[in-house]
Amino acid sequence: MRQVYLDNAATTRVSDKVAHVMNVHFVKEYGNPSSVHGMGITERNVTEAAREQIGAHLKCEPSRIVFTSGATEANNIALNHYFTMGRTRGKDHIVISAFEHPSVYNYCAYLSESRGAEVTVVNPDHRGIIDPWAISKAITDRTCVVCVMAVNNEIGTIQHLTHLSSVCAKRGVPLHMDATQAIGHFKMNLGVFQGTCSFAFSGHKFHAAKGIGCLVKPEGNICSLFFGGSQEHYVRPGTENVAGIIGMSTALDEAYQNGFWEKEIKARKDQFVTELKQKVGGIVLTGDQKMCIPHIVNVSFEDVQGDVLVSMLSDIHGIYCSTGSACCNGDASPSRTLLSMGLSEKEALSSVRFSFSRYTTEEEIDYAVKSISKCVANLRGWVNIL
Ligand code: PMP
Repeated sequence: MRQVYLDNAATTRVSDKVAHVMNVHFVKEYGNPSSVHGMGITERNVTEAAREQIGAHLKCEPSRIVFTSGATEANNIALNHYFTMGRTRGKDHIVISAFEHPSVYNYCAYLSESRGAEVTVVNPDHRGIIDPWAISKAITDRTCVVCVMAVNNEIGTIQHLTHLSSVCAKRGVPLHMDATQAIGHFKMNLGVFQGTCSFAFSGHKFHAAKGIGCLVKPEGNICSLFFGGSQEHYVRPGTENVAGIIGMSTALDEAYQNGFWEKEIKARKDQFVTELKQKVGGIVLTGDQKMCIPHIVNVSFEDVQGDVLVSMLSDIHGIYCSTGSACCNGDASPSRTLLSMGLSEKEALSSVRFSFSRYTTEEEIDYAVKSISKCVANLRGWVNIL
C-alpha cells in the first residue's frame, strides 16, 4: 500500500542533510562537550556554533538559548521559573489561552492544584484568535506570566504576537510563547518583542530529529526544574544532545535559506482545499484562513466521525492525518481547542487535521482527496442507512 504522510504538525521526516550531519556526530565526532580533551572540545565548539547560528536566525542573543529535549520541557521550565520567582513577590496568578498545548495547560493545572497558583484561562474567538485586549483584561497586579502559543497546533491560526507582547510589556508582565508551530515555518524575529519574553520550540516540527528543542529564556538567570551539572548554565543539566543540536541548527538554516518552502507548501494546501471543496461537499474549514499558517488545515466533515475517517484513511488508503494534537490522540473526547472556539461537540468530533511539508507532492494531494472523498461518501452512506 502506498503511504501519504499528512501529519506534519505532529512530526516531520528528518531532512537528508540533517540526517547526514547528525550521523557524523553519532559515529565519528562523538565526544562529550564537557570533556576537556580534543574530542570534547570539538563537540563544545560545534554546539556553541549551533547556538550562535540559531541566535542569528531568530535575532536573539545566543546566551538566551537553552537546549532542551523539546518544547514540552521548555514550556515546563519557563512556567516553573515565572511562577517560582513571581510567588516570592506575591505574584501567583497566571494567564493562559484556552487552547494551549498540554505541556502548558496541564502544567498550569498542576501549579494550581499543588502549588497554589490561580490560573485564568482566556478563550479564543470563533476564528481561533486570542484577543490581546482580553489578555490585558485578565492581567491583575498578581500576574506573574502570560502564556499564549504563537501558532495553534490544531487549526494553524497565527496569533497577534507583537500586540500581545506590547500589552504584556505595558503591564510589566512576562510573556511566554510556545512557538513550536511557528519557528522553522516563517521568519520569527524575536528582537521585535517588547518586555520580558521567552519562547519554546521543538526541532522535529521542521525536519530535525525528535528529542531536541529549545527554550529562548528571558535575559539573566532563571531557575531550573532539574539538578545536575553545569550544562546549559544549570538550567538544563545533563549531557547535551550534540547530534540533535547540530541537526536542529542545520534544519533551521535549511528553512531560512529556502524561504521555509512557504510558496510550495501553500500551493499544496490551496490544491487540497480546492479539490476537497469540489469532490467532498459538506465541509467547513475551522479557524481564520487569512491568519493561518500554510502547513495546517483543520476540516470539519458534516455527518462524519473524525476518528473513524482518520482510521479508514490510514487502514485502507495509507493516508496519515489526525483528529488533533498528537499528544491527545487516543483520547476520544472532543478537542479542547475546538470547543474553546465555540464549536459544538458534534462539530469538534467531526474534525480532522491535515498538515503538509516541503515533501508533500501534488500527486499525493490528488490521491488523498480522492481517497477522502470515497471514505466520506461511505461514512455518510452509513449515517443515512442508520
Ligand atoms: N507545543 C506545541 C504547540 C506542539 O505542537 C507540541 C508538539 N505536539 C509541543 C508543544 C510539544 O512538543 P514536544 O512533544 O516535541 O515536546
